[in-house]
Amino acid sequence: MMNFDLHCHSTISDGLLGPAAVAARAKANGVDVWALTDHDEVSGIAAARAAARALDLQYVAGVEISITWGGETVHIIGLQIDETNQQLVDGLDSTRSGREQRAHEMARQLAQVGIPDAFAGALKFVGNPDLISRTHFARYIIELGICSDVASVFSKYLIEGKPGYVPHRWATLKQAVEWIRGAGGIAVVAHPGRYHFSELQRNAMLDEFIQLGGAGIEVVTGSHTVDQYDEYARVAKHFGLRGSRGSDFHGPGESRVDLGELPPLPPSVTPVWVDWGL
Ligand code: AMP
Ligand code: MN
Ligand code: MN
Ligand code: MN
Repeated sequence: MMNFDLHCHSTISDGLLGPAAVAARAKANGVDVWALTDHDEVSGIAAARAAARALDLQYVAGVEISITWGGETVHIIGLQIDETNQQLVDGLDSTRSGREQRAHEMARQLAQVGIPDAFAGALKFVGNPDLISRTHFARYIIELGICSDVASVFSKYLIEGKPGYVPHRWATLKQAVEWIRGAGGIAVVAHPGRYHFSELQRNAMLDEFIQLGGAGIEVVTGSHTVDQYDEYARVAKHFGLRGSRGSDFHGPGESRVDLGELPPLPPSVTPVWVDWGL
């Protein structure tokens, strides 16, 4: 069985390794088909593709787009995209703008609870000045010794109701799906188990996603528990969505699941790659 890992990050967004190093790690871990899916960015794709080619690793061009739906931040993965598509490039550009101002506000809040200089502190961990994210703040808070790991930062800071959380208006679901489809890609709902939706809301979101032409949902991801693999296998089947598999790897020592190291998709799931001719 081929090992697909269709979700991970590099220093182009909030990962710890550059695109070529992520490719090498995927290959070393036995991945056969790999997609780099940086947040709201496609500028790592050229390097990722070149590195994959040199390693004889099959490459899929990807992206993870931040959207706001029902007051919640949701992530939509695009796979098999043409990363040079102008509407996609412009859309991602507009989605990224505002991150810097948001980061300044986050830093202001953190200063009020005794965490000084967080903007400069987070910036030290940023690989792409266009993409300062909560993860970079988390690394700074860990560096200061206030928390011991990313998960504990995201329980005390940077989330709704806690210091350092600044609500942000991302793209819409419609925009993300249109950008992905306009670029010839397949839209996939990332880590559905992570959102704080009621079942009713979740179903409404998936109905709208499908109406817009969305085709896939992550079933086996580093963000899901084993129970959630089964739950979202059922959801995928119920909604007629194809299932995806991806580690959501951000970096060694930081991510719970390494590249390629996930169980296979449950057999009831039609994989998103079923008609890729691989
Ligand atoms: P941002 O796009 O700036 O809102 O940052 C979102 C990123 O923060 C996600 O892509 C994850 O890498 C990270 N993140 C969010 N929530 C958590 C969590 N509970 N545990 C670990 N990382 C998280
Ligand atoms: Mn991330
Ligand atoms: Mn995500
Ligand atoms: Mn991700």
